[in-house]
Order: sequence, then C-alpha cells, then structure tokens
Amino acid sequence: MAFEVTPVLGEIRAADARVALGDTAGTASSIDVMVLADAGGLPFVGRLDLVRIGGGPGRHLAFCCPRCREPRRLLLTDGHGGIRCSRCARARTKRQLRRTCRSWKYLGDREFDELLRLLRPRSTSPAHKRQRAQLLVDELLAGDRDRLGVVADVVDAALRVVSAEPGAGALRRPA
Ligand SMILES: [Zn+2]
Repeated sequence: MAFEVTPVLGEIRAADARVALGDTAGTASSIDVMVLADAGGLPFVGRLDLVRIGGGPGRHLAFCCPRCREPRRLLLTDGHGGIRCSRCARARTKRQLRRTCRSWKYLGDREFDELLRLLRPRSTSPAHKRQRAQLLVDELLAGDRDRLGVVADVVDAALRVVSAEPGAGALRRPA
C-alpha cells in the first residue's frame, strides 16, 4: 500500500485514514502513513494497526496506539519519529519519574544526570560547561564522602558495642 501523508502537522485522525482507505476502510487491518511533526521534529513513518470500535452499523475506525495498544481516534507525533495517543503523550518520562525519588533529590542522581548531559559528545563543551562539570564532580565526591563518613561512624559505634559485650574476645582472631 502507498504511504498516505496526513494533512495536519503532528497528528493523524481515524477520519483521515478512512478517507485514504476508501473502499477498503471497512476491512483494512493496517495503514502505512507518514505523519509530519510540527516545529521541525522528525516525522512518523510506518504502519498503524486499525481496529473497529462500537458495534453493528455504528462501528468506527480507530488506530491501535503503538504504545498502549488501546483503540484511539487520534494519534500524535512525539517529534522523535514516534507516534502515540494523547494519554500516552501525557505519560511522564523516566526522568520526570525519577525526580520524585529520594536518590534523585538527595543522593546525587540529579547531579550525575546533569554531568552526563554536559559531557555528551555532541556538547560543544565551552569553558563554562567544563567548570560546571568540575563543580558537579566535586559535589558528587563531597556527597559520597559525607555519606561514607556517616556509615563509618555507625560501623565504628557498632564495633565498640560488640567489643564491650561479655565474650567479645571469642570474636577476636587468635594471635
Ligand atoms: Zn496510547
């Protein structure tokens, strides 16, 4: 089947597919499309599965969302060559999910993530980026040293308690 190009940037509607399919709209199981993204993003080029929703004569054509596999009347490009329904588009990214994690807020994940972004090969790495990267490395190391210090204090205290208990000598290595 020839590729169909949708009329509106960034989206494809089941009605567009129905028009493009013509006589085969009632039976086609998929359609090959190019959906141009808006704002200079990458277009989606590929095959979309089709499903029918509703019963009897009122059955309507819908796409099967490539991400959640639910029937949808409208799909939106993601600007990276993909396409998904509006519900999936609102789904939070991995980075957004991590932002609520304790490790992201307090254990250096945020600084490490920023450091990796600064040091990406396509980054031009001007002087201020290198300075920022060095600052992040210093912060990460200082944070690790602080956490290690806390752990060392706890271990030290635990060892003192153990060695003060009766019979602790049995734990010592023979001379
Ligand atoms: Zn979806």
